[in-house]
Parts: sequence; C-alpha cells; structure tokens
Amino acid sequence: MNDSEKKQYLIESFQKFGHSLSEKQVVQFLTYEKLLEEWNQKINLTAITDYENVVWKHFIDSVSVCQSTYVSRETWGGKLIDVGTGAGFPGIPLKILFPHLSITLLDALQKRLNFLEEVVSTCGLQNVELVHGRAEDVAHNEHYREKYDLCVSRAVANMAVLCEYCLPFIHRGGHFIAYKAGDAIPEIRTGEKSAAIFGGEIKSIESFTINGSDLARVLVDIRKVRNTPKKYPRKAGVPSKKPIQ
Ligand code: SAM
Repeated sequence: MNDSEKKQYLIESFQKFGHSLSEKQVVQFLTYEKLLEEWNQKINLTAITDYENVVWKHFIDSVSVCQSTYVSRETWGGKLIDVGTGAGFPGIPLKILFPHLSITLLDALQKRLNFLEEVVSTCGLQNVELVHGRAEDVAHNEHYREKYDLCVSRAVANMAVLCEYCLPFIHRGGHFIAYKAGDAIPEIRTGEKSAAIFGGEIKSIESFTINGSDLARVLVDIRKVRNTPKKYPRKAGVPSKKPIQ
C-alpha cells in the first residue's frame, strides 16, 4: 500500500469501527505506524507487521473501550497508566483518540521505552510520562502509588498476577480495565479473590466483537474499593511465580 492508500484504509477502518478521525489523529496514527515498522526491524516490538493487522489488532483493538460502557461514564478520564505497554498498546492509541488523558506508559524494557520516546515526540503527544521499571517496584514509589484514575493493561499476565501489578496504582474509586481474550472467562474468575486482596472488586465483564471486524475482545472492569495493603505488590518476580488466586 502506498501512503495515500494507507491513509484511506485507516480512515475507513475507524469509520467501520464507529469513529471519525480528525486530520490530526490520522497524521498521528500514520506516523506511529511508520515508526513501528522502522523500529521493528531493529528491536523486537511486535509480531504483527502487515498494515491491515496493525490498524485492527493494535490501533482499533486498543481503543475498543469505546464500544464498552466505560467511556460513557464520568469516571473515564483524568490520569491513566498502561502497565506493560510494550510498543505502546493500548496507551498510545488511547492518548491519540482521547487527547485530554494524562498518561503514563510503564514497561520493564528500556529499548521499548526508547521507541516510545520517539513516538511521543514525533506525534507531538503532550502529558505522556514514560516510566522504566517493573510494576512490582514502581508501585511502591509514592509518586505513582494510588495516584491514577484509570489503569489499562493488555497481554501482560493472567488476571491474578495483573491485579497485583495494576491495582496498587489506582486510587479508591478508580478503575482497572483489563484487556482479555475471548476464552478468558475462567481465568478472569480465578482473579476474583486476587482482586479483593489488592483492594478491587470486579464490576463487569464485557465480551464483544469489535465493530467492523470479527475480532473478539473481553474487557474486565475492576473498581478500586479499598486501599491496597502496603506489603503489595510483593518483590519483583514473585507475583508471576506465586500468583494469589
Ligand atoms: N501491552 C502490549 C501489547 O498489548 O502489545 C505489550 C504486550 S507484551 C506481550 C508484554 C509487555 O509487558 C512487555 O513489553 C514486557 O516488558 C512488559 N512486562 C511484563 N511484565 C512486566 C512487569 N512486571 N512490569 C513492567 N512491565 C512488564
């Protein structure tokens, strides 16, 4: 596809999904895709490389929250953290679509953050903080602990582990939205106990097919109802080795 075909495909795909992109958003997504393609040749960012799949499985999947009830709520907005963002999913597409969000992108791999630094500056994204570290360590830093309205995470760990990584970042009344695959319901259920230990409560599980595609997505909404006990998360590596479930 040449540049103008790519632009057309992007606009039409978002329209099928149910969203009209502004000219600025189109330029930002095209710039992001170009950088992803370039950097993916130097460092391992994603196994998804053909343009159509990047648009649907990365960009549109990342903003699939638009199809859920979450974004229509008053609680959608403010400060958001993406835990285990990798090449910026779902954090960067969310920031492009919802520029008012203030976002933190957290990942344990510095190389991926170097890529994201270039994406943020080339796309002209404001109010984006990049944090290098493991969630288990960063969550004990006062600057980040229980400071977020929203947390999102995709393809990072199973539900029990994710709750330990993510819930400590959210203040009471905030929400954690976990991006899960279609067959994840039993796994999500095993995370229920874990959510309660870290101060959360599963509010809803929404399963749907992404508009304009046959891609399945499950979004789990966990509300923070109590502060996370200070001893959590446990030391780096422990949550994934010994999940609480
Ligand atoms: N969320 C992105 C996506 O959906 O494309 C990336 C998924 S990738 C499979 C998992 C990412 O989580 C990797 O970039 C990895 O470095 C990061 N990660 C895994 N465990 C982590 C932890 N404990 N703290 C911070 N980042 C972590």
